[in-house]
Amino acid sequence: MTASRTTNQALFDRARDVIPGGVNSPVRAFNSVGGTPYFVARGEGARVWDVEGNEYLDLVQSYGAIIGGHAHPKVIEAIRAAAGDGTSYGAPTEREVLLAEEIRRRVPSCQKVRMVSSGTEATMTALRLARGATGRNRVVKFAGNYHGHGDALLAESGSAVAHLDPAHSPGGVPGSAGVPAAAVTDTVIAPYNDVPELDDTVACVIVEPVAANMGLVQPADGFLAGLRAECDRVGALLIFDEVITGFRLGWGGAQEAFAIRPDLSCFGKVIGGGLNVGAFGGRADLMDHLAPLGPVYQAGTLSGNPLATAAGLAALDLCDHDAYRSLIGQAGRLAAGFQAALHGAGIPAVVATAGPLIGIHLGATAPRTYADARTTDEARYAALFHALLQRGVALAPGAYEVMFPGLAHDDAVIDRIIETAHEAAAAIGSP
Ligand SMILES: *Cc1c(COP(=O)(O)O)cnc(C)c1O
Repeated sequence: MTASRTTNQALFDRARDVIPGGVNSPVRAFNSVGGTPYFVARGEGARVWDVEGNEYLDLVQSYGAIIGGHAHPKVIEAIRAAAGDGTSYGAPTEREVLLAEEIRRRVPSCQKVRMVSSGTEATMTALRLARGATGRNRVVKFAGNYHGHGDALLAESGSAVAHLDPAHSPGGVPGSAGVPAAAVTDTVIAPYNDVPELDDTVACVIVEPVAANMGLVQPADGFLAGLRAECDRVGALLIFDEVITGFRLGWGGAQEAFAIRPDLSCFGKVIGGGLNVGAFGGRADLMDHLAPLGPVYQAGTLSGNPLATAAGLAALDLCDHDAYRSLIGQAGRLAAGFQAALHGAGIPAVVATAGPLIGIHLGATAPRTYADARTTDEARYAALFHALLQRGVALAPGAYEVMFPGLAHDDAVIDRIIETAHEAAAAIGSP
């Protein structure tokens, strides 16, 4: 690999001059861990190289958008072949049908599917559809769950309410400047892992069936089934945000793993093979409320894009049952290695897995809620992050992100990361 002549610092300086914070998605700026982000020049399999030629064993994997490893030859070939035929037409194409059929084959609750261009668009539109189909306005989300950056779902996680009695439920508080209070007055926030009591004003409950944006928090026994039952009781729709868990937890995502059938599901990340894709799907009678059949509007110039559908189909093609089995095995080994490394260094930590997802909680007990998750030792995570990065292992630069080992993380890569984890933990451990 030939390094370009620039440095991470020089690029970051230039970037900050022309891009707010120097990045196009905030977590990449390293604000929560400090230091200068590395600028990636290229990636291959489990590795990325920065513009200075430093090599990292990469557990970020585009925050889960990559499952087969960077620049997987089959994915790249599919993109190249598609690009040769043109990059966007504004007319339907065969691969959109193939990808929708493939999603339905793996996730039967998705009787119909619509492609969009990001996970944010998927959740935003699923919400609109739920409101349009039920004629109700209120939405319930859970503290610590992330559903992209649409206004209605960017409500502050602190204002948790256990149930929807309006007297106790003043509505969400905007989680961002620029979101008017009116945009979240119908957003109610409940603590994760408690089934809220709903009423007939609720259009939908949206949930990460395995929470992977507050570290990794497993659904408690009965939580998802309880949501299903409570939604049915009041006629509200249950939306699974499977943008991370879809096609990663296993063949049929979290809804297969936990045997719960949501009304609507949202996807992104894996199904784009590293290109810009989101999708949502669900019961046909609900999906048929979408334009052009029904009155709920949604559209997109690049929706179902030919390159993105080619990449997504190629990525899903890598993900057969054997692939998930081996992926989950590797992740289990990696998690045990991290746990042993941290434990050996006297660092209180719970390293959890869900399928192939891994989360590190730097505290003594496994979190069940966002409040629990936030007790993680963020300063120590920053130290661990830098100790690993210096030694050539890249975690995400934030204590609430999970690790995304993929199909390219073979035995040798996993062994090397575990070895590095031991060195890094020893370097930052309690004296
Ligand atoms: C990443 C993510 C989103 C948003 O997807 P984008 O493609 O970044 O817009 C939504 N929900 C969950 C659970 C996610 O992890």
